[in-house]
Amino acid sequence: MARVLGIDLGTTNSCVAVVDSDTPLVDPVDNGRYTLPSVVAVAEDGRHLIGRLAKRQAVINAENTVFAAKRLIGRAFDDPQTQAALRTLPYRCEAGENGAVRIVIRDRRYAVQESMALLLRELKDAAGSYFNEEISKAVVTVPAYFNDKQRQAVKDAARIAGLDLLRIINEPTAAALAYGVLQAGDERRVAVFDLGGGTFDISVLQIFDGTVEVIATAGDAFLGGRDFDDRILESLISRLEREHGISLQSDRNAIQRLREASESTKIELSDRNTVEVALPFLSARRDGTPIHLQTTLKRDSYESMVADLIERTMQMFSETIEGAKLTFAEIDEAILVGGMTRTPRVHQQVAQMWGRPPSSGVHPDLVVAVGAAIQGSMLMGDTANYVLLDVTPHNLGIMTLGGMAETVIPKDTTIPTELRKTFTTVRDNQEQVKIVVFQGDSRRIAGNELLGEFVLSDLRPAPRGTVRIEVSFAISADGLVTVAARDVETGREQTIQVTGSHSLEEDEIRRMIAEHQEDLVATIDDAIDSVISA
Ligand code: ADP
Ligand code: MG
Repeated sequence: MARVLGIDLGTTNSCVAVVDSDTPLVDPVDNGRYTLPSVVAVAEDGRHLIGRLAKRQAVINAENTVFAAKRLIGRAFDDPQTQAALRTLPYRCEAGENGAVRIVIRDRRYAVQESMALLLRELKDAAGSYFNEEISKAVVTVPAYFNDKQRQAVKDAARIAGLDLLRIINEPTAAALAYGVLQAGDERRVAVFDLGGGTFDISVLQIFDGTVEVIATAGDAFLGGRDFDDRILESLISRLEREHGISLQSDRNAIQRLREASESTKIELSDRNTVEVALPFLSARRDGTPIHLQTTLKRDSYESMVADLIERTMQMFSETIEGAKLTFAEIDEAILVGGMTRTPRVHQQVAQMWGRPPSSGVHPDLVVAVGAAIQGSMLMGDTANYVLLDVTPHNLGIMTLGGMAETVIPKDTTIPTELRKTFTTVRDNQEQVKIVVFQGDSRRIAGNELLGEFVLSDLRPAPRGTVRIEVSFAISADGLVTVAARDVETGREQTIQVTGSHSLEEDEIRRMIAEHQEDLVATIDDAIDSVISA
């Protein structure tokens, strides 16, 4: 029986699971832990540090440490979302060829896909040594809201890592799958509430007769644990600045230490009512006097700092239920996914909204990888088969006259799918049409993500409105898009696999595969050395 890796490639933490003799198993990675921080760093001598080692040295090597790269994957450098993300990240990025984001570390440029590939390979190697056998087939999960460009970029990353990617599936779908298999039987509707480190996803799924169908998805790619950390961070910074009359903004190491302390304080507040925050020698005044931080944070003041963030998740939760024309009473199960759902207040609010306690029977940090592994096993025909139906998260279509967005495949359509629509010319004797493909929910093209464009030429000279052009869109099970335009009369056709303007070129991918095969990943001992000597 061929084993398949189920990989949760998270913004903050990644995880790998494998179905072994019908039982989903989460593989230990990173010194026996079950999750790998999604952090990659480059040490002084050029070696890569990955996971906890990379996270631990982030304080002293901030600008050479890449975390939350998933926020950048498949996005253009000048995308406002990229710029918003970069304001919070200490490493340097620039625009590469085609306007793609390049991460600059120690004078070397990394594609975002490449940094993700290093994580994927680490997970692959960990599973390989656990099972004492190289496993390269994989199912990788992405947030439900990932568009085509982002999915393509994940595909590139998997190739660079030497994985044979069988399927990309949505994280909430994977989570439901983990529960669905455990509780097969009657028809049930499930809400998946996933609050991770960088993203929030809410999905409503219908599990019926061996089928898992996503009937609604929504979310916010910029709402997660980090925003909660930021609230604590801001309060600590303003407190220090007020007390000591200094500005900490340019002291990167102090900010990084404060950020780590903010996160661990937040995590501890899940179990305790009061947490002490102590950071000796955090910074110094102008005259050299050291500044120490010594304070306490109570759970209720933390809860009021983040009340609006939690409120936003609840708002989206109820809007999604309404959008699916359901009531909370019709939801049979609410599943909590993501480390942040261990926050008591989040748990309570979900319980209050739904009217019952949510289930978290499979560990919220591991459930997505488990679901991916189950999907992998199904694809190999090893597990009782569930047909997995997913829906497309955004409208897909083309630009029409006046910059309007005309939808061909509406959001929430079950995939894989293929749909057609017929268009016509707008001018007399028009010789060609430009097909501009978008993904998004705005009525105007400018408000959407452009996926690509191509030209269908040599149209028959004719009065406007008489030449018929059939545009067909196909979405594969991975959510990847192919668009074709056909002159109905002549049968002339143009097709593109929408790869997005900043996916990697074939020769770039080959170069990266070759380079990273040689690449030395530091061993544990080496890495500890390099932390001390830096
Ligand atoms: P992602 O899907 O983004 O990789 P995870 O599901 O691993 O994220 O969740 C990571 C987030 O969960 C981080 O912000 C982390 O601080 C937070 N987290 C982890 N454990 C806890 C806890 N016990 N209480 C509150 N937050 C937690
Ligand atoms: Mg996650």
